[in-house]
Amino acid sequence: MQAVKYFPRKLILNAAALLTVLLVLSSVATSEPILGEKEVKLGQEAAAQIAKEHKLSDNAADLKRVREIGERIAAVANSKEVPALYGSSRVTPFQYQFNIIEESDVNAFSVPGGYIYVYRGLLDFVESDHELAAVIAHEIVHAAHHHMVYLLEKQASLNNQIAIALLASIVSGARGSDVSNIVLGAQLYQIARLNGYGMQAERDSDYGAIIYMREAGYNPVGLLTFLERLAKRPEMVDWGIYRSHPLDAQRVAAAKKVIRELGIPIKRRETTRAVKAEVRTDSVDGKEVPGVYINSTLIYRPAPVAGKTSIEIANELASTINDVLDSNVQMYEIKIDPSGYGVLVRDKPLIIVSEADARLMGKTPEEVSKAAADAIRAVVWKQMVDTVH
Ligand SMILES: [Zn+2]
Repeated sequence: MQAVKYFPRKLILNAAALLTVLLVLSSVATSEPILGEKEVKLGQEAAAQIAKEHKLSDNAADLKRVREIGERIAAVANSKEVPALYGSSRVTPFQYQFNIIEESDVNAFSVPGGYIYVYRGLLDFVESDHELAAVIAHEIVHAAHHHMVYLLEKQASLNNQIAIALLASIVSGARGSDVSNIVLGAQLYQIARLNGYGMQAERDSDYGAIIYMREAGYNPVGLLTFLERLAKRPEMVDWGIYRSHPLDAQRVAAAKKVIRELGIPIKRRETTRAVKAEVRTDSVDGKEVPGVYINSTLIYRPAPVAGKTSIEIANELASTINDVLDSNVQMYEIKIDPSGYGVLVRDKPLIIVSEADARLMGKTPEEVSKAAADAIRAVVWKQMVDTVH
């Protein structure tokens, strides 16, 4: 993700800058690119400019949320080397800084040296901390893997004057130079993207985000659900972000593949606000009794059986129902057991309702089974309607 708001105001390539460029290009050709301190200086200039041109949030609760998530992921980025599919994986610790821009775009971007920006519109769009962590991790990878420097090198080799000037400013430390007005990360990515170098960096950021998230204790499925929902709701997207490489199925598929290869179960209900089955405990006749709820409707109370408590059975059932709902199940696949004592999904028992279970709800097993099947079908129906577009 990256913003596309900035365009060069002036560009004066003087002799000194050109000389620097020659030095840069020779160093680029032979050795490690210019990483670290100079990127930070460049980032500081960009950050100062961004603060002038945008309203940065002072909402304490939102900043706390963004910064806590950001710092957990930054701690990983600053200590763990994650192979770079693009850029450099060499760990260069940055003092990451996180800010919120008070604009409605579903967007985020980073500038070199660890300055990360998320938009208000993004905070409204994500459905969990996992999804927010995914976007922040993605931006951190852009910084940690030094994508900007690499993108600029590519551009410079195409003799793109802006890229050359910016690269020169990285090398010279961007101190009060003529290029300081144009030093903005967002714009750099714009250049890169227009020339078709952005996609590799995006892939690397998605891949790295998954690794960082897992290390930091977030569920990487958050990246997948975020990308999937964004792809389904194009009206939500500032098309500036994706114009040259629309949020294609490829990016979603690539994220899914990495998550599967890491053996992480794809349970979308853990990272979204999709309706899920939940266990609640109620007081019935002076006793605490667990029940499985969907959409605030009680669908089942398990009586204890040999070797299992009610709460264990309830937790297992809620988890199984959520897996079923995540599995692209169809309405016709949810049936009442021919005996009337339970619910089948794809012809396998999902819920078996005993007389003892049904008594806890003051109903017959048939009644409990029918109501539970209806509640699950209603969620599947809503899911189906929501994905039609
Ligand atoms: Zn990106």
